[in-house]
Amino acid sequence: MPTFDEARQIVLSSIKPLGVERVSILETAGRVLAEDISAPWSMPLCDNSAMDGFAVRSADCTSVPTTLRVTGYIPAGGEICGAVEPGCAIRIMTGAPVPPGCDAVVPIEDTDDSGDTVTMLHPVKPGQHIRRTAEDVKAGETIITAGTLLRSPEISMLASFGRALVPVHRRARVAILSTGDELVELGEPLAPGRVINSNILSLAAAVREIGGEPVLLGIARDNRESHLEKMTEGLRADAFITSAGVSAGDRDLVRDLLAELGVKQLFWKVDMKPGGPTAVAMFEGKPVFSLPGNPVSTMVTFEAFARPALLKMMGHSRLFRPVVTATLMNDLRKKPGKMNLIRVALQSGEGGFLAYSSGIQQTAMLKTMLRADALAVFPAELEVLEQGAIVRCHLLREELLMGEERAESAD
Ligand code: AMP
Ligand code: MG
Repeated sequence: MPTFDEARQIVLSSIKPLGVERVSILETAGRVLAEDISAPWSMPLCDNSAMDGFAVRSADCTSVPTTLRVTGYIPAGGEICGAVEPGCAIRIMTGAPVPPGCDAVVPIEDTDDSGDTVTMLHPVKPGQHIRRTAEDVKAGETIITAGTLLRSPEISMLASFGRALVPVHRRARVAILSTGDELVELGEPLAPGRVINSNILSLAAAVREIGGEPVLLGIARDNRESHLEKMTEGLRADAFITSAGVSAGDRDLVRDLLAELGVKQLFWKVDMKPGGPTAVAMFEGKPVFSLPGNPVSTMVTFEAFARPALLKMMGHSRLFRPVVTATLMNDLRKKPGKMNLIRVALQSGEGGFLAYSSGIQQTAMLKTMLRADALAVFPAELEVLEQGAIVRCHLLREELLMGEERAESAD
């Protein structure tokens, strides 16, 4: 049985990034660039004014005050005008091209402006308040490399160089299937013994959060025909996630029927809790995740195995959440033998993070997942972790690294 870390490596070593598509720049936030992009021209394209004011020849302004004749006006978007004669100035707006002959711009607030003439009140340095051609980017320079996550600044850069279509890795279409005779869809009548199919929605949300496209296949009932029909559909997507029916019960059909459809298992069972019965398999180069059905197990195993794999498929290079160390604030006990991931709330203390158990750690306890900021590692061989122990925590809420904190205590 692989350990948690081994199982993740097994999954990731089988995954390849999806192909490339060219999409409208409007659709690229959160996507990963698939090719290096170089600048088709320099930026700025020409010397231009950094201020509203007057373009001058600095040699005319060696003594102050100096009065110059105003012989023209270039607004933003205006044409470059002819060369400026000695003793003259051009009224110029921010972003407008600096006319030939001028080597400085004097901000309007450093002048006495009387319309036909303008008086410089301070000494003028050559080059002042001029944005130089190519000082930001030179033509041909690589501006963004393949593999970069596209955010607002990258999109600004691409737009500034006229890229309407951008080559990005495809978003993964992820088929999601729930299994079980006890399940009802949200909106259908609930009765004792019935369970609302919440997993399909928590998984869809988790897929969306990382930029994937969930395809909801509904519920496969605990019989062969229903499973085979839905699974055949699921195997057409880029990745396929099932929940429940993967333990050793007599109604747990998922693995056997996937195998019948030609799916090749990478592993079944991982040395971890929650999530022990997880199976991961491959079908025609696409991953198939069979996650256990208890809602917390489903979310934790998505987080552990499906999330990094889907990120890799969509071209990301940062696949794992940050791991931090924290001081445990409760005593914890478990049976030896299995690594446990403990749901913990984090608080920042003077010496770093403090980790509080978020409550009863059974996998059917949903509230503890809502309070969990991280999953703390309780090593396999240990039975007791005492208050004060240092634990490794896989962050679920990365904004905690930016100092936001939420104090929670255990129930
Ligand atoms: P199983 O692995 O089929 O034995 O399912 C384990 C438990 O997970 C079941 O007892 C259900 O309570 C729960 N469960 C299974 N599927 C879902 C689902 N789609 N949504 C919410 N809970 C589920
Ligand atoms: Mg079941």
